[in-house]
Amino acid sequence: MTTSTAPWTNWTGNVIAHPTSRVAPTTVAEVTDTVIAAAESGTRVKCVGAGHSFTPAAATDGVLMTLDDLTGIESIVPTRGADGRVDGADVTVWAGTRLHRLGHLLWDLGLAQPNLGDFAEQSLAGAVSTGTHGTGLGHPGIPATVVGLQLVTADGSVLSCSRDANPEVFEAARLGIGALGIITKMTIRCVPAFALRADERPWTLSAVMTDMEGFARSADHAEFYWFPHTDSINVKRNTRLPGDTELEPVGRLQTAISDEFLSNEGFDAICRMAARRPSLAPRLNRFTSRALSARTFTDRSYAVFASPRRVRFREMEYAVPLAAAGAVLGDIRDMIDRSGVLTPFPMEVRFAAADDVWLSTAHGREVCYIAVHQYHRMDHTELFRQAEEIFLAAGGRPHWGKMHTRTAEDLSAMVGRFDDFVAVRDRLDPDRVFGNVYTERVLP
Ligand SMILES: Cc1cc2nc3c(=O)[nH]c(=O)nc-3n(C[C@H](O)[C@H](O)[C@H](O)COP(=O)(O)OP(=O)(O)OC[C@H]3O[C@@H](n4cnc5c(N)ncnc54)[C@H](O)[C@@H]3O)c2cc1C
Repeated sequence: MTTSTAPWTNWTGNVIAHPTSRVAPTTVAEVTDTVIAAAESGTRVKCVGAGHSFTPAAATDGVLMTLDDLTGIESIVPTRGADGRVDGADVTVWAGTRLHRLGHLLWDLGLAQPNLGDFAEQSLAGAVSTGTHGTGLGHPGIPATVVGLQLVTADGSVLSCSRDANPEVFEAARLGIGALGIITKMTIRCVPAFALRADERPWTLSAVMTDMEGFARSADHAEFYWFPHTDSINVKRNTRLPGDTELEPVGRLQTAISDEFLSNEGFDAICRMAARRPSLAPRLNRFTSRALSARTFTDRSYAVFASPRRVRFREMEYAVPLAAAGAVLGDIRDMIDRSGVLTPFPMEVRFAAADDVWLSTAHGREVCYIAVHQYHRMDHTELFRQAEEIFLAAGGRPHWGKMHTRTAEDLSAMVGRFDDFVAVRDRLDPDRVFGNVYTERVLP
């Protein structure tokens, strides 16, 4: 176990913390010892995953723990469908495992996570703890695929949690924003490895806005990026195919042009131009949207779901009821036209199935996720403030890992089983050993 007192910052650079120490345990016993020692000395503890939350969810003024040395797959138990045939597996994974590595490990075992976000640098526990999701009305977010977990609580207990063991703790810790303890491992329900056929093409916002639900149901995983100040969108539709489908990955040249140049290096240059002269944003967005041409390819599921993201940005994302999605997008478009706020960054629109995870943004209802971005060198304040007003008016719920201004009082009225979550937390961590600046705002 190593220690250091260097300052900590998240990926996008909007959160800086000054932990009193940093620890990287290599065993569950070391996690437990750290928590007990911190609790006894009145110091707070926070586990950081990959530091990719835009909120200060992982920040701490106490002990900053990373589970980068607790990674990999621990065990696999096949699952069976109603007909008795094996239909996947419950895979127990050490909590610090990064999602991109997990994708490879599972593929080699003939398995896959059923759905993923658009990026895979996160740790499994970090992604689950903030409610990370992908797109697809037939698929809930990642926390809904968790069927068991091991939690080190404030008194040093090591709890095994599932629907059968410590069920209330399990329900709360499936999406616990790091407030209940340190998750050391998780069991996730996996499906047989599958391929995805990706179909990406330009389209218009006005065409999809009239029937958002129809668009959402037009593929297993449908989403689009809208270029503000224009009517242009880039539609992405992924169709699930059996794992032994012959793969036709994106060629190296096309990867270099589309994923590396247009989405990363070239896009960064465009954003820098917009940061120097914001009035160029509409022209730059027209240029970027036209530069992205239609393409189809087939690859392993995890390689299609996620792409590298090297251009730093700030993000706010709300889950709005599916039926309200078209109107909300229309209001956002009108707000941008009217207010004069400028951004070179596309907005991302995705969908998810309803789930029963207590703090989930999709608790009890199908949702459309609308994400507003701003380049990290440009001011996001006015764009996010006005967008948030629109999301809230539509009954939206904020992503726990993305910027928002809601407090415990607001969230208690918006989030499905907020009060039940708070009751479990009060029982497990009355002294707030796992508290931080974020939980002080979003939890009572
Ligand atoms: C480029 C980029 C792309 C993204 N894409 C998506 C996307 O497609 N979909 C989406 O929904 N979100 C997305 N996000 C948001 C991101 O998935 C979440 O913020 C996620 O929490 C980050 O995971 P992390 O491992 O970096 O966790 P961190 O940010 O390090 O931590 C998040 C929370 O998890 C807690 N935590 C971490 N490990 C543990 C543990 N072992 N035990 C208990 N608590 C723990 C932390 O204390 C903290 O409260 C994206 C973010 C970025 C920067």
